[in-house]
Amino acid sequence: MENKPDIVHIIEQEGFEIKRGKALCPFHSERTPSFIVNRNKQTFHCFGCNEHGDVISFIMKLKGISFKEALIYLGISRGGPVKVNPAIQREKQIQKNYEAAVNSLYENLCQQSRKLHNIRVSVKRNPGALTEQGAAYFAEQMATLAEIDFKIDLLLNGTFEDKIILLRGENNARCGTIKQTAVA
Ligand SMILES: [Zn+2]
Repeated sequence: MENKPDIVHIIEQEGFEIKRGKALCPFHSERTPSFIVNRNKQTFHCFGCNEHGDVISFIMKLKGISFKEALIYLGISRGGPVKVNPAIQREKQIQKNYEAAVNSLYENLCQQSRKLHNIRVSVKRNPGALTEQGAAYFAEQMATLAEIDFKIDLLLNGTFEDKIILLRGENNARCGTIKQTAVA
C-alpha cells in the first residue's frame, strides 16, 4: 500500500488529542485514556474495548465506511492495475466459451427431451388417438428422444473429447425444432 498517511496525524485531524501515545477511545466511552497509538508500527489498540488496527481500519470504524471508501477518504492509491498474462486470459476465454456451449446445448437437449417425454406420456395414455401418419411420426420422435437422452448422458458423463465431438456435430447439424403436432 503506497502513501499511507501517518496514523497520529489522521487521528488528531479527526479531533482526538493524543498525549504521550494515548487518547480517549473513539469507539467506547471512557474517562481515562486506554487508546494507544503506536507511531512506529502505525497501529492503534484500545485496552478498553479491544479495537485495533491501522489507519485504514481506524477510518473505516470511525466513519462506518468500506475499505475502498476509506482509501479514497485517506487519499491512498492502490498501485497500478493488476497485470494479466494474455496467454492465460485467452485460455480462460476458450474454457469459458466451451463451458457456455456445453451448458447451452445441455439446456437445449433437456428442453427437447422434456417435450418428447410429454408426447410419449400423452400417447401412452390414449394410443387410439394416433392416426397412421401420427404413429409413424411418433415412432420417429421416440427415436429422436433416445438419441437426445444419449447426448444428455454424454454431456453429463462423457469425456472432454466426447463433448467436443458432440458440440461440433451439433453446430454442423443445427437441426430444426421439434413439432408437437404428432398427437391429435
Ligand atoms: Zn476503546
